[in-house]
Amino acid sequence: MSTSPRLPDETLVHIAGRIAHLGGWIVDLLSDRMFWSNEVCDILEVPHGASPTVAEAIAYHPPEWRARARQLFDGCANDGIGFDEEMQVISASGVRKWVRITAEAVSGAEGAVTRVQGGFQDITEAKHADSDRRILATRLTTTLESITDAVVMLDREWRFTFINGTAERLLQCTREEVLGMNIWDRFPEAVDGPYFIQYHRAMRENCSVAFVEHYAPLKLWTEIRAYPSEEGLAVYILDISERKASEAKIHTLAYFDKLTGLPNRELLVTHVEQAIAANHAAGRYRALLIIDLDNFKSINDTRGHDKGDLLLQMVAQRVCAAVGTADIVARFGGDEFVILLDDLGAERELAQQRATAAAGALLGCFNGGFEIAGIDQYSTASIGVTLFDGEAVSLDTLLQRADLAMYQAKGAGRNAYALYSPELQSRLHDRVALEADLRQGLSSGHFLLHYQPLAEVDGRMTGVEALVRWNHPTRGMVPPNDFIAPAEESGLILPLGQWVMRTACELLARWAGAPASAHLTMAVNVSAHQLHRPDFVAQVLDVLAATGAPPERLKLELTESLLVNDVEGTIAKMDQLKLAGVRFSLDDFGTGYSSLSYLHRLPLSQLKIDKSFVRDALGGQQGAAIAHTILALGKALRLTVLAEGVETPEQLAFIACAGCSEYQGYLYSRPLTEAALAEFIAAR
Ligand code: C2E
Ligand code: CA
Ligand code: CA
Repeated sequence: MSTSPRLPDETLVHIAGRIAHLGGWIVDLLSDRMFWSNEVCDILEVPHGASPTVAEAIAYHPPEWRARARQLFDGCANDGIGFDEEMQVISASGVRKWVRITAEAVSGAEGAVTRVQGGFQDITEAKHADSDRRILATRLTTTLESITDAVVMLDREWRFTFINGTAERLLQCTREEVLGMNIWDRFPEAVDGPYFIQYHRAMRENCSVAFVEHYAPLKLWTEIRAYPSEEGLAVYILDISERKASEAKIHTLAYFDKLTGLPNRELLVTHVEQAIAANHAAGRYRALLIIDLDNFKSINDTRGHDKGDLLLQMVAQRVCAAVGTADIVARFGGDEFVILLDDLGAERELAQQRATAAAGALLGCFNGGFEIAGIDQYSTASIGVTLFDGEAVSLDTLLQRADLAMYQAKGAGRNAYALYSPELQSRLHDRVALEADLRQGLSSGHFLLHYQPLAEVDGRMTGVEALVRWNHPTRGMVPPNDFIAPAEESGLILPLGQWVMRTACELLARWAGAPASAHLTMAVNVSAHQLHRPDFVAQVLDVLAATGAPPERLKLELTESLLVNDVEGTIAKMDQLKLAGVRFSLDDFGTGYSSLSYLHRLPLSQLKIDKSFVRDALGGQQGAAIAHTILALGKALRLTVLAEGVETPEQLAFIACAGCSEYQGYLYSRPLTEAALAEFIAAR
């Protein structure tokens, strides 16, 4: 075993000293001389072998360090206290350096300190690196403090190692409280939740994670970015609560009705589409209902929009209370509400019962009126109901069906519900076709008037009733009972009625010029829709003026049904026309809902007993009794009474005897064309 030649310790010390920039020094207190090793001389950039006094050595420190250096040296020389201190020196060439100076006292035989010695190391590089690190750390901390994101650093044991001011505010804690604390101890609600899972994943898989999450205990919406490192996890938390709130607000604006707070059309569409899909899968029934207020427009017009809005809000509340929690009530704008009735079961019959029961309950919401600004406001609704199951239908189709049923309910007198059926659909189809046909007929001049003579019971002709006819190009002569109602519903009665009035008045004007016809009256049927037009009076007066027909020979036939709505307005209009000389008779008397209380207030001149009473008069005791009652009523109201539909001499004898002054019917004459009427008049 060979041994390598041993290097002298001296040499090794020199090597170590050179590499570590570490030198040694000795002060002999007796001679006040200092001995510096070569390394010390190199650090201070003086020739090797330098041997200054203590004062000269202290002068190598910059002025601000000299007092300290003297103090330390004296402490060691006088009291034997060693030291280990980092200080600055300035080398011979003027370079400022950091040195670490250590010292110990060596005592002589008497115990007094005779020598002070120690080490002298250039630590400038280490010092700079250290201060770089410190600057970096402060700079980082300042940055983290100043950014608006909340920043939290965790070590690998989940303890807080850093938390900036924003994070303190956001997490509602102070750094004193949490530094060193385990995050899951601080936020136990988060354990096993999304934050917990994501942070663990980031640490485990050493990958950054980003996610958006709501932290309920602090009512906080957060956007999180977490970056793992050797030290642990840096978590950046962005408070997005405001953004979420405005998103929610936008959602509310987009999907909810402002006035009532109910879901709007958009939202309902989504629900219904889901329901259609769900039904498809489960084979179950649901129902779509449309509720439309019957008189909303007039309430709005008479009481103002703000009161109308209040009514809609109250209706919304009651409707919501009347349906199940799983059902959805939406407002489609205006006075239209749409309801999706949730699961009605798998059996059609039962589902239908449930849906109609719900519709009945909804009508019930309107009982008892709504108190608006101290006034009880009455309102009713019409409801259309349509069931749907798994069949492939679109929402539009469902809405159309419910709408159709709703119009059916309106047509049936309102304050009612109707259920959609395919028959209803075909009826509607027919009606739509008829309306188109009517429109076409009006513009192509396919309408004409027939005139049925009216007579006194002794047979003297008093005038005619104008009866409209539709000479249809393919169907032939269409009777008015087949088209008046659809014309009224579609509003076409307005131009049609206008045409009738004008045509009848033109004939009336021509009669005035001939002695044989100058005394004849012209009766024109007026439907409720016409009379309720605000400009009805003006229209009639215009026609009279334009045609030159004598107003006192014009008689307007009204039916009782038209008196149901707006009695006061009707009376006012009748009064205005009466002032111009026009007379009125009440048509089909006895078939409507006459109320004696207002009948006596109407400026009527005649009652026309409906032909059904005339027919029944000779059929049995009761018929005759009713005819007598009506005649007595006419007399009491000081009106003349005309009997309609007199077909036999027996009927004529009866009504004459009962006190009728006039009659109309096949016995006297059928309705005639204008030409036939001219012959009829000439023959008298
Ligand atoms: P209305 O006003 O009661 O007219 C009398 C109806 O009785 C007419 O039927 C007439 O032809 C029929 N009639 C006349 N004498 C007899 C008879 O002895 N026996 C029987 N069974 N019937 C008789 P029409 O012409 O079919 O008119 C039906 C209804 O159509 C009218 O009933 C009226 O309500 C309506 N109407 C007719 N023309 C017009 C019009 O220009 N405007 C409006 N709004 N309605 C009209
Ligand atoms: Ca009539
Ligand atoms: Ca009649």
